[in-house]
Order: sequence, then structure tokens, then C-alpha cells
Amino acid sequence: MATENNGSDDPRLARYVRQWRYAPLGAGGQRKLLDSRVLLCGCGALGSVLANTLARAGVGFLRIVDRDFLELNNLQRQVLFDEADVAAGTPKAAAAVEKLRQINSEIEYEPIVADVDHTNLERLAADVDLLLDGTDNFETRFLLNDYSQKHRRPWVYGGCLGAEGQTLTILPGETPCLRCLIAEPPPPGESPTCDTAGILSPIINVIASMQAAEAIKILSGNRDAINRKWTIISLWDNTIRQMDVSGLLAAGGCATCRDGDYPWLSGQRGSHTAVLCGRNAVQLAPPQRQKLSLEQLETKLAGVGRVSRNSFLLRLEVGAHQLTVFPDGRAIIGGTDDIPTAKTLYARYIGS
Ligand SMILES: [Zn+2]
Repeated sequence: MATENNGSDDPRLARYVRQWRYAPLGAGGQRKLLDSRVLLCGCGALGSVLANTLARAGVGFLRIVDRDFLELNNLQRQVLFDEADVAAGTPKAAAAVEKLRQINSEIEYEPIVADVDHTNLERLAADVDLLLDGTDNFETRFLLNDYSQKHRRPWVYGGCLGAEGQTLTILPGETPCLRCLIAEPPPPGESPTCDTAGILSPIINVIASMQAAEAIKILSGNRDAINRKWTIISLWDNTIRQMDVSGLLAAGGCATCRDGDYPWLSGQRGSHTAVLCGRNAVQLAPPQRQKLSLEQLETKLAGVGRVSRNSFLLRLEVGAHQLTVFPDGRAIIGGTDDIPTAKTLYARYIGS
């Protein structure tokens, strides 16, 4: 008599039986998941849910990269962590893997405490099948997009703010890329962030779960089931929008997917220049001079911390840090001499 979908003879499959009994996945799909390798960039809110879901689902190898440390205000939405992690001040990548090993010790993990940038992405992504976006900024997303197009490797974009979130699965050559959709990342200071506009945790679970489902489809070889639409969901307005964006690729695509232009991966774009100022401060400068409205930024940061402004600069005091921002997008982050921390604070409060 045939065994359960030919899976019961494989001891690796036993714990996932409720998953692979789902016929479109099957034992064959489960085996593919176990043989899959994933790079997860960012292990905050979306990243926690992605890592948790994919570890339980039996994705064989998870490389988790995050530059940040845990803070108490993360626990509202970053579901892998607890108060003990906050008290220990553990880096998120390390705390996540410690937790994941208790959940599933049969798969392989590689925690990396680092900032994903153009100097290390080629190495971090070289041996994986899929890249997942658990980041909070467009700089890293455009970098992932460049890598994905250059090496024909799929990635799944996800982003949340307030009660709204969006996701897009990017299959190089088959679907439009992020740059087709968004020609330019929003300039620093203009777009709200979770730290300035707030975030409700349920939308994170929704979007990250959709990203995880896409990951399972891609890795198990179920490409027909992939969601090729740009999906935007609001849990406050109770709306789900699905936009057919295939026309963007049919119309020729963008400089990245059409012409092989990878400015973020080559380091021409995106990566802030960081200089250690000494005296416990780091200066960050965007690669191109930007015109940033200090007045708009002041409005955005109202309520986040103590904000003061004159015509030359804006200063934000938040926790133990002081951010001094200039109209060309440059900022001096005081209260740290750690470049990844400074970048995190910039992404949080100034944006992108
Ligand atoms: Zn494109």
C-alpha cells in the first residue's frame, strides 16, 4: 500500500506531516523546502514572523542578518523576542537564532550581526535560493533588487506602516522588479517610518505571512501558485487591493531589469557614507546631496522626542541619542560610535 504521499519512509519529514499533507505541497515539496537555503535581511517585525514561520515549515538553511539590538518597544510587534532578550541587550540576529533552535533544531541557521550593504551582499547571498525582505528601509530594498536582477534570484518585498502593508514577489525575467514599481526611493526625511507614524502589529503578521507563503511556493517549486500582483492591505480601512503590474515589464521594464544597471549593488547609490566623528558620534551622508525640508521633518518628528530647529539644522533628542540633521540630508548621530546603530537611527527617524 502506498505510504502517505510517499513521505512516511523519510524520517526528516515526520514533523512536517500536516504541512506536506496539503496536496499541492506534498512530500516532494517538503523535501525541496528541506534542501532550500534562504537569506533573510532584517530580523525585526517582518523578519521575526518570516524566520519563525520558515523555521517551523522546515526550510533547511536560514541565514539571518540584522544590524540592530533589541529594545523594549520592539516587543509589541517582534514576536520572536521576550523581555529577557531585551534585558540582555542581545543583537536581534543572535536572539532570533537562539529562539529558533528551540523551535526547530533539525535545520541549519547562520546568525550574522551586520549591516547588509553593497560590500557584503554578494557574499551573503551567493549560496541561497531566495532573498527575503525583513528590512525597514528602501536603501536595502533597492540593493536586494539589484542583486536579485543581476543574479536571477527571486526575492519577496514586504513593508508595513501604520495599519497598512504591501508585498510583491519579484521573479527576475518573469515579473516587474521593485525599480519598475518605484522609480526612486523616497528622499530622506519625507516618508514616515514606524518610529514616526506608528505601526499596528497585526498588519505585520499578515504581510510577513504572505511573504512566507510566497517563499514556500517558490522553494517548493510551485511557481504557478505565486502571487504576481502588487498587494496592498489596510487592516484599518478594511481594504485589500491587488494590482496587476505585469504591464510594467511588458512595457520594457526599468534600467535595472532591462539594461543591467545596478547602482545600489555597485555602491554608486544608496549607501550612506559613515564617518566616525569621535566623541561618541557618527556622521552619515547620503551619496547624493539631497534637498531635505527641515520644516517637514520637524512636523514628522513631533511627539517622537525633543525636537529643535533653526534654519541650518534640526536636532532630535530621543533616548540616549541626539540626531542633528542638515538640509542636504547629512546627519550626525550622537550617543553612539557604532556605524550600524547610527544607520538604524537614521532609517528610523529620517527615513530611507
Ligand atoms: Zn525593473
